[in-house]
Amino acid sequence: MDHFEYHSGLLHAEGVSLVDIAQRFGTPTYVYSAATLTRHYRVFDQALAGSDHDICFAVKANGNIGVLGLLADLGSGFDIVSVGELERVITAGGDPAKVVFSGVGKRRDEIRRALEVGIACFNVESEAELERIDAVAQDMGCSAPVSLRVNPDVDAGTHPYISTGLKENKFGIAIERAEALYARAAEMAGVNPVGVDCHIGSQLTTLSPFRDAVTRILALVDRLAEHGIALEHIDVGGGLGVRYRDENPPSPAEYADAVAELISGRDLKLIFEPGRVLAANAGVLITRVELLKPGAAADDKHFAVVDAAMNDLIRPALYDGWHRIVPVAEQAAASSQKRRWDVVGPICETGDFLGLGRELSLAPDDLLAVRSAGAYGFTMASNYNARPRPAEVIVVDDTVHEVRARESVADLMRGERRLPFS
Ligand SMILES: *Cc1c(COP(=O)(O)O)cnc(C)c1O
Repeated sequence: MDHFEYHSGLLHAEGVSLVDIAQRFGTPTYVYSAATLTRHYRVFDQALAGSDHDICFAVKANGNIGVLGLLADLGSGFDIVSVGELERVITAGGDPAKVVFSGVGKRRDEIRRALEVGIACFNVESEAELERIDAVAQDMGCSAPVSLRVNPDVDAGTHPYISTGLKENKFGIAIERAEALYARAAEMAGVNPVGVDCHIGSQLTTLSPFRDAVTRILALVDRLAEHGIALEHIDVGGGLGVRYRDENPPSPAEYADAVAELISGRDLKLIFEPGRVLAANAGVLITRVELLKPGAAADDKHFAVVDAAMNDLIRPALYDGWHRIVPVAEQAAASSQKRRWDVVGPICETGDFLGLGRELSLAPDDLLAVRSAGAYGFTMASNYNARPRPAEVIVVDDTVHEVRARESVADLMRGERRLPFS
């Protein structure tokens, strides 16, 4: 459930019309709904009420300080993949003691900073990284809490670019090798193995890959316990899918129940790293039609050129991501003016589209809302074609808060200069 609905013929975010937001902040603009984010977090949290748990929002899905601050206030922890994300969490008021640090290539300075602020756990993705964390921690005279990110070799059945739990993926440590590495970790003075971690992919729409992964990891936990290595937590990663179009993913409650059931009877804290499921449907990208390029014949291609592009929202170009595109001013279902439009941006790439063949009745200057854009939207935006990134706003009831100003062209050139002799 979300809080983007039509009232008096205009699409609203909570109590505010998207027309008003476009007038005030311009387009393209990312609009997030605080009530939706809150609801998504609480549904997840309440489903886990019977188990010791932390929900660590994956910052890479949406790193806006306003969004992170709202989640921190609800009690969320955070899953980070860089020191930049760590600083965002701290700036937003997040608790470092609820931060887990994932990613295959953590630098020494990133490890040092994470130790300084006292994060909950490093999710270690290789033997070399384990050695590096051990060395940095020893150098600082402390010991780093670590989990090994094991690769359970399950096929998540999702897009190859967002499938991460197969042997052939760069992520994690092969499950057969994990035991030996835990034994090594237990001997190291600078690391303390406290947990085990996995993350098998993103936009998963069935429970079976999660069940398979958790079952394999629990078997590992048991083998480790036999060798005197008692872990305190199991981190099952993120990856629960959302409905973009007609997918039917398990609800967060079904998912949490399934995992909690597998764990039950064990003295293990549960950690989740959801990104998409909390944020995707809590955001839309509003964009304005610049101009229309209808084809000559009815069955030719018709292009609607809008002011948002692949640099603002890359999911369609990168992953074949499908986003619902709806008019901000409601249209009659059977309008005779409708055609199938390719909704494209102004960027010089054929892959620059937000949606293909969308049945809409369009005129220049119309406003459109690209739905489900709250995750992997702004965080993946770039300045390609020297395009400033959009503004971001959060709607709370009847109030709009600008949580990131639109970039200016001057912002794009900051730090650049001509050669001294030219
Ligand atoms: C991307 C990622 C997540 C979040 O994935 P979602 O599909 O957005 O839930 C969680 N953990 C790790 C390690 C990730 O890389």
